Amino acid sequence: MAPLRVPEVREVGEMEIWGKSKKQVNYRPAPTPEVRCDHCKFMFPRLSVGGCRLVRGNIRSSDTCEAFTPRGAEGGAEASEGDL
Ligand code: SF4
Repeated sequence: MAPLRVPEVREVGEMEIWGKSKKQVNYRPAPTPEVRCDHCKFMFPRLSVGGCRLVRGNIRSSDTCEAFTPRGAEGGAEASEGDL
């Protein structure tokens, strides 16, 4: 009998839906408010605990990771310091 397999991750453009584990992206408490998950375009819904389109598992709004991308940024490079 074939071993069980984890469903493959679908790719949409350059982004893999739930393609990363928390360990891969160094998920951790945010060091500053500007890089919190609730300021990242991948978090949904932006509640105290929600989800992320990129990282698997429950996501806390007060945490962050290396894939943080500011909301409103098209590739992550458009945010300015005055956005908040
Ligand atoms: S900072 Fe990381 S874990 Fe948090 S919402 Fe963005 S991509 Fe997901």
